Amino acid sequence: MNNDTTINLVLIEDEKQIRRFLHAALLIEGITVYEAETGKQGLVECATRKPDIIIVDLGLPDISGVEVIQEVRSWSEVPIIVLSARTHEQEKVNALDAGADDYLSKPFGTAELIARIRAHLRRRQPNATSADHLFQFGDVHVDFSLRSVTKNQEAIHLSPIEYRLLSVLARNAGKVLTHRQLLKDVWGPGHSESNHYLRIYMSNLRQKLENEPAQPRHFITETGVGYRLVIGDGLR
Ligand code: CA
Repeated sequence: MNNDTTINLVLIEDEKQIRRFLHAALLIEGITVYEAETGKQGLVECATRKPDIIIVDLGLPDISGVEVIQEVRSWSEVPIIVLSARTHEQEKVNALDAGADDYLSKPFGTAELIARIRAHLRRRQPNATSADHLFQFGDVHVDFSLRSVTKNQEAIHLSPIEYRLLSVLARNAGKVLTHRQLLKDVWGPGHSESNHYLRIYMSNLRQKLENEPAQPRHFITETGVGYRLVIGDGLR
């Protein structure tokens, strides 16, 4: 971030109405918005404004939103939130695989968008008070240096795969991870089609770590796309 108070955001969206209403809503939050209506213009804005966060629509008139993400990711780790039509699951998956952090399906509420923006900005701020090897959500505490997981102070036994899956989700907490990304990081590149493994082990983690496994609050399914580990109430 440029300083403690200003958040700079680049908004790449060809629909003027959406740009106008988002600009107004973000301004109220003290966020400075730089608009672009094409992908190429958006890339120029991203390079010159050095934004703290980028919002990009996937359906743009010149280059695709996915190309914008790939280009930005070649030089920056800035958080990217994608806007997409509700039914275009594959498009969302492609955007996330290209390096986007999150997506919102149109139509969406500004309150949700602003919560996501704040959560992704928070995620990138190093927390001086907590050590790198400690991770917490709900009643669960993970100590990565000891490979220990406890829930309400009771030790929880995880299999090596369950532990690896939890580690990958924790490292990317708040981010949507696609099936492909999770399979590659947990099982290795040869298993990118084995979605049923993922379902089984995700269900194991919910059984062991959620208070109500059937209504998970942390291990969230992103239908048709992947999963997200939610640590607080900041996201959803
Ligand atoms: Ca569009």
